[in-house]
Amino acid sequence: MSEDFYEVLGVSRDASQDEIEQAYRKKAAEYHPDVSDDPNAEEKFKRIRKAKEVLTDEEQRRAYDQMGHERFEQADKRGGFDGGPGGAGAGPFGGGGGGDPFGGAGGMGDIFEQFFGGGGGGGRGGARQGADLRTSLSITLAEAYEGVTKQLNVTRPERCPDCDGSGHPPGADSQTCPQCNGRGQETTVRQTPLGRVQQTRTCSRCEGEGTLYDETCSTCGGGGITREDASLEVEIPSGIESGQTLRMEREGAPGEGGGPEGDLLVEIEVEDHPDFDRDGADLHYTLPVSFPQAVFGDAVEVPTLDGPVEMDLDAGVQSGETRRLRSKGMPRLQRRGQGDLLVHVQVVTPRDLNEEQREALEAFAEASDEDLEVDQTFFEKIKSSF
Ligand SMILES: [Zn+2]
Ligand SMILES: [Zn+2]
Repeated sequence: MSEDFYEVLGVSRDASQDEIEQAYRKKAAEYHPDVSDDPNAEEKFKRIRKAKEVLTDEEQRRAYDQMGHERFEQADKRGGFDGGPGGAGAGPFGGGGGGDPFGGAGGMGDIFEQFFGGGGGGGRGGARQGADLRTSLSITLAEAYEGVTKQLNVTRPERCPDCDGSGHPPGADSQTCPQCNGRGQETTVRQTPLGRVQQTRTCSRCEGEGTLYDETCSTCGGGGITREDASLEVEIPSGIESGQTLRMEREGAPGEGGGPEGDLLVEIEVEDHPDFDRDGADLHYTLPVSFPQAVFGDAVEVPTLDGPVEMDLDAGVQSGETRRLRSKGMPRLQRRGQGDLLVHVQVVTPRDLNEEQREALEAFAEASDEDLEVDQTFFEKIKSSF
């Protein structure tokens, strides 16, 4: 015979954590097998401990309230209970403050929809932090180099300003919900071939509030949530990479029951640059070099994100050779120093020669004792075009 956990501890369904702890200490002292005369003391003591365990764990308690005693116990026996609906994730107070503001990223999309798509609040309870919301923001490589402050416009859920999230006007008359007698929960008992099934769920009439109001807030339609167009300034540190996420604390969905707002996670996307390929803090640049430049060497200009720099090209440089320009790459995020700029030499084979160039190269080939099997018709064609 299993008894509802609230009854085991002798507390009401909306008992606070303190009340539960207190009730537990009292009951545990009473039924401790070492001191109790009750022949079933040990069994009772176990149940008291289990009840306390579940009800003092926010997530388990929520699940217990939603599933009802019977179903919860079955789920519990079937290999443990891990997290409530919504589970996984970062937990209600995920992320924590301080330290590294960068984390992994997840799905994107309209953050207003995210809020209503995900989880959804069940029943009443203490103060709960609002959900974290996600969005993305695109910046150029030059902006990632310098660091930039960007304007981010989001439409996000907001606690209704007209009713402060309660769903009814401040002065509305109220009465105790007759369907649940103010408990916010309904318990139904059904007889099935497998036995008596008890189900506890959030009261459908008052939606767990225990109170009915004569008026509904016209601004939010009673949901307590409205849309807000917010314009936020996002400070993006220099050196940030694609896929990294900035956490803007307290800019997410509003909390419940006076709880704090969730966070807004902004995934940064760094756009590709026409000249540079990025590899962490290093940048790669392909430098086109003419044949004579490669032969004789030259002083060339190489672009960097900080303006062009001069570089000496040695005589005889080969295609595919690389020059490393120290500290001309990207700044390292949250660290000192910069990566390097790797300059990849690419000797460009001349095309569409004019006659003078062609003769010079023929002379070059001859002087090198090179006997080229050149398609004569090709040369004839060129000749005839001048
Ligand atoms: Zn009710
Ligand atoms: Zn409202």
